[in-house]
Amino acid sequence: MPQTKSIDELRSRLVEIAHLNSAVAVLGWDQEVHMPKKGSDKRAETLAHLSGIIHHKFVSLDSDGLLSDFKKQLDSNELNEEDRVVVAETWRSFQRMKKLPESFVRELSEIASKAQTVWAEARQKSDFSLFEPWLEKIIDLKKREAKYVGYKHSPYDALIDAYEPGMTAKEAERILTDLKNSLVPLLEKIKKSKVKIKPEKLKGNFPISKQFEFNKYIAEKMGYDLDAGRLDISTHPFNTSFNPHDVRSTTRYDEKNVLYALGSTIHETGHALYEQGMSAEHFGTPLSESVSLGIHESQSRMWENMIGKSREFWQYFLPKLSKEFPKPFAKISPDEFYAIINRVNPSFIRTEADEVTYNLHIIVRFEIERDLVEGKLAVKDVPKVWNKKMKDYFGLAVPNDTKGCLQDVHWSMGGLGYFPTYSFGNLYAAQFFHQLEKEMPDVRKRIAKGDLLPIRHWLKDKIHIHGKKYTAGALVQEVTGEALNSKYFSNYLEKKYTEIYELKKD
Ligand code: ZN
Repeated sequence: MPQTKSIDELRSRLVEIAHLNSAVAVLGWDQEVHMPKKGSDKRAETLAHLSGIIHHKFVSLDSDGLLSDFKKQLDSNELNEEDRVVVAETWRSFQRMKKLPESFVRELSEIASKAQTVWAEARQKSDFSLFEPWLEKIIDLKKREAKYVGYKHSPYDALIDAYEPGMTAKEAERILTDLKNSLVPLLEKIKKSKVKIKPEKLKGNFPISKQFEFNKYIAEKMGYDLDAGRLDISTHPFNTSFNPHDVRSTTRYDEKNVLYALGSTIHETGHALYEQGMSAEHFGTPLSESVSLGIHESQSRMWENMIGKSREFWQYFLPKLSKEFPKPFAKISPDEFYAIINRVNPSFIRTEADEVTYNLHIIVRFEIERDLVEGKLAVKDVPKVWNKKMKDYFGLAVPNDTKGCLQDVHWSMGGLGYFPTYSFGNLYAAQFFHQLEKEMPDVRKRIAKGDLLPIRHWLKDKIHIHGKKYTAGALVQEVTGEALNSKYFSNYLEKKYTEIYELKKD
């Protein structure tokens, strides 16, 4: 008689892999926050070595038929709800990983790590030619990855699916084009508005140590548990997690502009809350993993924009800010402050973009990376095409590659297919926030009192705690009773900016 294997055996193998992934995440965090420059070559080798081990362990999950056995039980409806998720999601990742040869995974990890170092230098020197051969290598590797994984229509489908399961190049194009069609006319109206906003009024001198305290204070008000997380400094703000009890966020400071760090801190804390909100009990299994990058981003965007750039939020926090930094904030009215932090200003840098132009930045990147992967665009032509799109969509002439195609780290890391998830995050966020307002009619009043924890709890119960129980599409349906609909985001922007810029209503 064949022995029935226990699901605990599968879980414990997954947990073992998760511990290794945690170690990789610690090294990745250290690389960005503490590692000395000369450490980069050996660190790349260490990470490549560990990636190879993890990959090997993952594809060995089925060496004795363990995973296939559970897949059969899944297909014949023999598993309980939790085990269904564990098996279905593990099977999905397994299918993808199994197709990638171990040597390929090591090569990609090593090249990406080195390319990142070269990219940083190229960006600093504003010299695309330094990065060009490395981007060639990355694109070549990603094309190979798509071939290994397989796809129906576009190799880009195989890449975007890694970040937003189920998404395709075609569907992404449809969503982003819809967005473009509502954003461009709104931007045109804003450009013609007579309302002039003066952001320089918020400039001042803000010692970083004092800023740090204020950023920490806001993060804690949002519900970030600093006994289970940290807030550090890195060139590019990011969030990573080793487990729900040890989450890391970073931000960056500008001594002249206190809002520079605050925006990043609120954003990354939104991510961190998602990570802390997941089940520690199910650590290592898909029940304690985020749904998709788009859903992850929805958590940061809702906090950063819908809450952190609302009137109500600053009704509470502006007096606190002006107590810490009376110059200049004591003399700024709440209305003026609100207008300045929401000012629409078409600019070169994605991470500094306002809510209206942000998605246009994403569209530029999406179109370029898709064309690179589909072989319709040569790497050497990236700067030229980038600059043309910036001219066409924003009316801006890019002065150099640092402010152009070298500004983002993603391509150097091999993260092709990643950018569109930022826009999906905006759309999910608006739809979730709309639902939150429906279920918690006094939510704005609570925000105005600095009472943010009910929001944190709502998000945890509705989204974080489920891990991968639902796909992104099913989660949106479950939480809001409706499939993803871009009208919530368009309506949100329309309403907010019609008021700020005193636009005529159509
Ligand atoms: Zn983010």
